[in-house]
Amino acid sequence: MPERFPASLQQKIEDRLRYYEDMGIRLFYTDRGPGGAGVAVREAVASFPPLPPVLQETALPKSTPKLAPMKAIPPPAPSPLVAPPAGASLFEAVDKVKDDNLLKIREDLGECTRCKLHKGRNKIVFGDGNPKAQLVFVGEGPGADEDMQGLPFVGRAGKLLTQMIEAMGLQRSDVYICNVVKCRPPENRAPEPDEVAACSPFLMRQIDSIHPKVIVCLGATAAKTILNTTRGISQFRGEWLEWRGHKLMATYHPAYLLRNPPAKADVWKDLQKVMAELGLQLPKKSKA
Ligand code: SF4
Repeated sequence: MPERFPASLQQKIEDRLRYYEDMGIRLFYTDRGPGGAGVAVREAVASFPPLPPVLQETALPKSTPKLAPMKAIPPPAPSPLVAPPAGASLFEAVDKVKDDNLLKIREDLGECTRCKLHKGRNKIVFGDGNPKAQLVFVGEGPGADEDMQGLPFVGRAGKLLTQMIEAMGLQRSDVYICNVVKCRPPENRAPEPDEVAACSPFLMRQIDSIHPKVIVCLGATAAKTILNTTRGISQFRGEWLEWRGHKLMATYHPAYLLRNPPAKADVWKDLQKVMAELGLQLPKKSKA
């Protein structure tokens, strides 16, 4: 039997398909236009041997049975939430994985080398907290302390986040904390688009498996990346957004609050809205 295509190309296709399977993606399109990711697949498919005559288009009947008329589907009720500030997020494209859990996701991630950030990391910072949390905080990426310990938000900014969580009447172990990328970017720079694209399917699986009531994006990078917007965070900070079936709010990153303490008041207002949404009691006003 003749070979379908060279062994090296076949190996590459198998590796790529295995990678997508790790991500939980089992359905995808092969045609993304000239120069797109589908080119290699199209070329490989073009080299397939011809189909047997019985499967060729000319062998199929020309007429198709008539379908019963479809019932009109009523438009969805308008959401009381503010619409996301831009078009569909890249994260929306990731399908949900059935019966997923954090342990399986961590196993699938493995000693990841899917993007260049792996070269400089000390430890992968997967995420930490309650796997059934009602509230998930998403930051940008690990810093030096996080990279050393393998835990998110453990440096100075992390201590401030812990104080914020405790001010809400919760403990860190009640919530889940993670980042857009799981390896420390060099010099603490913002993650680049290819790094976000490689790492984000795992974040999506984490959020889908935890299924929180509320997601809080900490800082512009997390918010802009997840919402796929170039708008400044101050334009939608503190507003309820809807994303992948969750309520989402963007607020300032604790590291920004360390540099700009007056912004703590804005963040506290945002967190009080989150508390109200979660049914947590607002602190009693102290008497003057
Ligand atoms: S940042 Fe994410 S995708 Fe990149 S190497 Fe680390 S774990 Fe893998």
